[in-house]
Amino acid sequence: MKLVYCGECDAVSTLATLERERCQTCGKPAVRIELPRPWQYWGATAVFLLALVILLATNLPEIQIRFLVLLPFLGVGLVLSTWGMRVSKGRALDAGRALVKGGKS
Ligand SMILES: [Zn+2]
Repeated sequence: MKLVYCGECDAVSTLATLERERCQTCGKPAVRIELPRPWQYWGATAVFLLALVILLATNLPEIQIRFLVLLPFLGVGLVLSTWGMRVSKGRALDAGRALVKGGKS
């Protein structure tokens, strides 16, 4: 996964790693923005790993109970990854704007 910035529409697009770097809105070439992952991303990864460890360690026989145990972890993980994505996009927008402005002056 990667983030690209389009100067034409002043928008950030989320692309798969192997996709060509262009804007999802107008289709014009966009600039790739490299950013360190926010802490929410690592938080979500940790939560998912923890859920896996708990599942393996407890070895619950009932599939419904397993699901109930996993549900809060999945919820928290999902919230964290969505939040992290939003933070990343906001940062990419700032970085992209700075990049475009820097190129013009
Ligand atoms: Zn665009």
